[in-house]
Amino acid sequence: MSRVLVIGCGGVAGVAIHKICQVSEVFTELMIASRTVSKCDKLKEELEGKTKTKIETAKVDADNVEELIALIEGYKPDVVLNVALPYQDLTIMDACLACKVPYVDTANYECENTDDPEWRKIYEERCERLGFTAYFDYSWQWAYREKFEEAGITALLGTGFDPGVTSVFTAYAKKHYFDEIHTIDILDCNGGDHGYPFATNFNPEINLREVSAPGSYWENGKWIETEPMAIKREYNFEGVGMKDMYLLHHEEIEALAANIPNVKRIRFFMTFGQSYLTHMKCLENVGMLSTTPIEFEGREIVPIQFLKALLPDPASLGPRTVGKTNIGCIFTGIKDGKEKTLYIYNVCDHQECYKEVGSQAISYTTGVPAMIGTMLVANGLWSKPGVFTTDEFDPDPYMEALNKYGLPWKIDENPVLVD
Ligand code: NDP
Repeated sequence: MSRVLVIGCGGVAGVAIHKICQVSEVFTELMIASRTVSKCDKLKEELEGKTKTKIETAKVDADNVEELIALIEGYKPDVVLNVALPYQDLTIMDACLACKVPYVDTANYECENTDDPEWRKIYEERCERLGFTAYFDYSWQWAYREKFEEAGITALLGTGFDPGVTSVFTAYAKKHYFDEIHTIDILDCNGGDHGYPFATNFNPEINLREVSAPGSYWENGKWIETEPMAIKREYNFEGVGMKDMYLLHHEEIEALAANIPNVKRIRFFMTFGQSYLTHMKCLENVGMLSTTPIEFEGREIVPIQFLKALLPDPASLGPRTVGKTNIGCIFTGIKDGKEKTLYIYNVCDHQECYKEVGSQAISYTTGVPAMIGTMLVANGLWSKPGVFTTDEFDPDPYMEALNKYGLPWKIDENPVLVD
């Protein structure tokens, strides 16, 4: 019996909200609040009459802590789910702290204006100290640990699929299958086809910033950074077939490196077709991925934000995307003195997701875990004061919920390994 406040009403939020409304025995009341309130109202209209969850909507600027506090104080939620953008993580955490309400998100903090000299100074010092150059990292949110502990509330970070489920798979492998995990390869394969020459499956700005950045992986206690897309492998994915995949930096590597004892190597690979990479390189070469504002006909515009306005809205890809995703983790390590390998993965069908909630599988595979994490925090199963990632709780109720709410997983104890 809880009241949940969802902030943001884009592709991922749409799925999380549909799922929240399917679990009305837990989520009795829901407030959808976002920058464009008409999107919240439209979703409310669509869901009302199909759910017992009582839905309200509100307009909020999630960059503004005072506005967020007023919203939270007025609605009095038991938990806040942030599915706006990573830019808003810290303001929403600040508001949750001020109101002593648990906080949940799906992606770690990223600064919107990477030219901000104050942010840049901290960022450059962090690049030097840790050895990777991604714009996002956990240090900003881990800095809230003591504050959340003192306030006696939980912050659950990164409960999407990757990060999120991939770290729960790791905690599950560690609990049930290994005495020691030595290597983790996280494989994210999207075999979907939306028929457009170029589109991103989630927020284009966040997606393109991530994919065009240098790659990196964790090995023997330190980060190894590579040129963007420098490491390529092929893998034969169940439900999809043979795909090229490329090593990227990814946020769960940072948390798993800190939390999995004796892990020797953690890598993350994502599949891309040649056409996607060619489009992206071309856009990058002409400056369209830049986050630095330029003056155009008397107006300031940010190139990547202008590009976002031109590209298809990821939330609109649902009806036209066919094919499957296959995301999971391959582990190697030791059990009872013997070498062991294990692959835990989920295969998800774009059209099945569309039939159920009107979205493609990328939003679905993120929105379902967002609901599950929020539910576990709300019902007290994943509740302890402080700031945590999904590998830091008992994985069993989460794994059960994945099977129950649309993302069943499989185990292969003899997988093909990635060299
Ligand atoms: P969208 O761009 O589709 O949606 C973002 C929503 O946030 C929009 O409704 C937008 O409002 C709203 N918003 C943006 N800024 C503000 C603000 N200042 N105040 C209030 N609302 C705001 O993004 P996605 O749904 O694709 O992604 C949502 C989150 O999920 C992102 O953080 C993304 O990184 C994360 N993600 C995580 C994954 C994982 O596996 N862990 C995978 C995919 C995404 P408006 O409608 O007005 O634009």
